[in-house]
Amino acid sequence: MRLVIVGAGFAGMYAALSAARLRDIEGVSPEELEIALVAPEPTLVVRPRLYEPKPETLTAPLLDVLNAVNVVYVQGTVDNIDSRARTVSVVGVKGDRKTVPYHRLVIATGSRLFRPNIPGLAEHGFSVDQLGDAIALDRHLHDLPKWPVSEMRDTIVVAGGGFTGIEVATEMPARLRAILGKDASPRVIIVGRNEAIAPDMGAGARPIIEEALRMLGIETRLGAGVATLDKSGVTLTNGERIESATVIWAAGMRANPLTTQIPAERDNFGRLLVDNRLRVASVPAVFATGDAARAACDGVGNYALMSCQHATRMGAFAGNNAAAELVGVPTRPYHQEGYVTCLDLGEAGALFTRGWERKVEMVGAKAKKTKQEINTVWIYPPKAERAAALASADPEHVTEV
Ligand SMILES: Cc1cc2nc3c(=O)[nH]c(=O)nc-3n(C[C@H](O)[C@H](O)[C@H](O)COP(=O)(O)OP(=O)(O)OC[C@H]3O[C@@H](n4cnc5c(N)ncnc54)[C@H](O)[C@@H]3O)c2cc1C
Repeated sequence: MRLVIVGAGFAGMYAALSAARLRDIEGVSPEELEIALVAPEPTLVVRPRLYEPKPETLTAPLLDVLNAVNVVYVQGTVDNIDSRARTVSVVGVKGDRKTVPYHRLVIATGSRLFRPNIPGLAEHGFSVDQLGDAIALDRHLHDLPKWPVSEMRDTIVVAGGGFTGIEVATEMPARLRAILGKDASPRVIIVGRNEAIAPDMGAGARPIIEEALRMLGIETRLGAGVATLDKSGVTLTNGERIESATVIWAAGMRANPLTTQIPAERDNFGRLLVDNRLRVASVPAVFATGDAARAACDGVGNYALMSCQHATRMGAFAGNNAAAELVGVPTRPYHQEGYVTCLDLGEAGALFTRGWERKVEMVGAKAKKTKQEINTVWIYPPKAERAAALASADPEHVTEV
């Protein structure tokens, strides 16, 4: 029997570990149940950190930990799923193609930034969405000192006033000063369609974010969108023109398009609708998890967000349940009652909230310490040591907050 997991992000990594854990607990051998993980690279890209300097360092190796728990790594990209024949088609790095049959499939292909069809965005917009995007932005920023000094060179426009937009924008003054010299006076402007900054954060947290932006000298243009981009700046929907060599798009996410290959219902973000076992109920033998799935996380109407916090735990439940079906033991209902947010505010510290109503629990340097611990310890893979790696993937204990 073979369980195939597609994607080596937070959800895919924990799906593999937790399936291996269940196999181990049930005394089933890797020959009887093969667990295969397909991804372009055997590394975890630490996406929540991609707004930081040195993005090329923000990956973690996975091969040793997968080997330690007898998960087979298959290098390549899945470009076709045949859910009737129960096979996936994998394209290798050299363009070679192979068909891999599965008895259960876990789709953990994550998400991508949504880039609307705005003139100039594809040619001139930067982002911090995928590793390559963050590296391209970093190279561009390091190139700026060669440009003639001008307002355009020193101005960064961040399109999107949500979590990612705020984290990128608040990091930029320090990043630019480090590159352009301490006498530089970078200008950072957040453009957001909503009338309020951080529309999802609620009234309690917003004044803290507004104060951080004031402290860092970050300007906002709210209630307006980007209408067009060109090589020297943006024009907003209200007609305002901002000269800028660096426009960073940080507005909106969509599930990876591989989800469209599953003949099932999806939400507005392209996420597959799943039941409480994280099964795509209408398609036999297929599970979806992480940013690729829409799942209820409690009994009072909250749904998992496209977040690391949810992807990790959803991954552990999906892997456990897919393996449980193959081994013939009961599956477990996914549930995730706890919810916290920790928003980086650059040199202004961070903001930590608890609960769906986003009650402020920590601010400033204290919250920043927690953010650094989350970003450098908690979200990284476990050590490549069999017992510890398996123990880390108990679905009931992954991402307890
Ligand atoms: C700048 C930024 C800041 C963020 N900040 C936070 C934060 O503070 N807190 C938080 O909780 N979340 C944050 N997030 C969101 C978080 O990163 C995502 O929710 C999380 O990465 C989702 O995990 P995932 O495993 O579902 O998908 P991903 O991490 O996107 O992983 C997807 C995996 O699938 C692979 N893959 C994709 N397509 C294929 C294919 N066709 N075949 C094979 N493999 C494939 C990819 O290579 C990758 O290995 C942030 C994201 C960004 C970009």
